Amino acid sequence: METNSILSFDQKHIWHPYSSALSSSPNILVERAEGVYLYLENGKILIDGMSSWWAAIHGYNHPCLNEAITTQLERMSHVMFGGLTHRPAVTLAKELLSIVPRGLEHVFYSDSGSVAVEVAMKMALQYWYSKGMDFKKQFATIKNGYHGDTWHAMSVCDPVTGMHHIFNNKLNIQHFTPSPRCSFYDDNFELDEEQLVLFFRENHKQLAAFILEPIVQGAGGMRFYHPGYLNLVKQLCDKYGVLLIIDEIATGFGRTGKMFASDFSNVSPDIMCVGKAITGGYLSFAATFCTGKIAHTISNGDPGVFMHGPTFMGNPLACSVALASVRLLQKCKYDISAIANQLEEVLGTLRDNDAVADVRILGAIGVVEMKESVDMAVIQKECLKQGVWLRPFGRLIYTMPPFIISKEELRKLTQGICNVINSVYC
Ligand SMILES: *Cc1c(COP(=O)(O)O)cnc(C)c1O
Repeated sequence: METNSILSFDQKHIWHPYSSALSSSPNILVERAEGVYLYLENGKILIDGMSSWWAAIHGYNHPCLNEAITTQLERMSHVMFGGLTHRPAVTLAKELLSIVPRGLEHVFYSDSGSVAVEVAMKMALQYWYSKGMDFKKQFATIKNGYHGDTWHAMSVCDPVTGMHHIFNNKLNIQHFTPSPRCSFYDDNFELDEEQLVLFFRENHKQLAAFILEPIVQGAGGMRFYHPGYLNLVKQLCDKYGVLLIIDEIATGFGRTGKMFASDFSNVSPDIMCVGKAITGGYLSFAATFCTGKIAHTISNGDPGVFMHGPTFMGNPLACSVALASVRLLQKCKYDISAIANQLEEVLGTLRDNDAVADVRILGAIGVVEMKESVDMAVIQKECLKQGVWLRPFGRLIYTMPPFIISKEELRKLTQGICNVINSVYC
């Protein structure tokens, strides 16, 4: 098909994420990707500053990941997981259970982050059901969070910044506590404590679980909060008999400089979700972990089985590439703090621009928060001129590059971001 007819068919008939079916601007046609680069049909080459939404941590077309997936392809691409198992699923589980926070002993595989969150919430509900405490059926979370686009995941996204406000009056009502005021770099989080204690005291009886993203709140605002806050939530959960669900879907697998963002704290959650970078960006896949206590309580209760089972659960291709990705991550020992330093060095200069409210860096995440909402189309057009791919939202222009990015490539990416912001807001 001709490029023009591809683009016009795409525009007329295919939904894209958070898009209009009547959009006047065509999408960008990518022919292939390699390393940190996206190769466009028109010959242009872009540095991917988004890692395809946190996922492509090793860059594109990686020989190790390619090999893992093609080797598995020749054995079997899929078999049902009900009553059958296979080496990729078991080896991956063993590997993952050796790196997740202590106490997590069981894994449930699923197809995407949102489903992993649904599974986590169902586990929490079925746990209390099995204990004969069915009245514990509400969830609490902090504001500015994001946990996915499926129905119950949506209900714990921030009602304003979480992209789902149209559905607010149709969703289950959950509890939203203020998001932590203490930033990652502050030392003082006393102010939040009083409020949170009060909240737990008043609501714990009906609460099945408290769910939150650890340290980094992603799509709900790109905020970094203090590890002390996570410790506090865990203490209160334990004290008041509320399960803790940690959503590591964006932060897991090294993005913050730790394997998991929870590793900044002492917290071992009852349930934890991972997704996004789990397959190094190759396939849609996710996992929900839980403690022995949760798994055994559900299994000893009535009906004695956990009521979930996706058709493509434990897909062997996804398990194989995930295993290769996790092993590569451990072998490569990427220097995330060097990426952080370079992000700070270049993006930090934007603090002098009057239109910029804040610049914050954590691990391989660089966020420039503007004072006003940005026009995504304008920013993206300027980014293309700089050879950079970003997707800003709200007041945020941000990057989370692949870990394999070289100093030179990162310089081009960060300098490109500065050039765009300084030319649009001068
Ligand atoms: C992206 C994301 C999800 C949803 O994952 P999908 O794979 O898009 O369904 C859930 N939680 C967090 C923190 C995320 O960043």
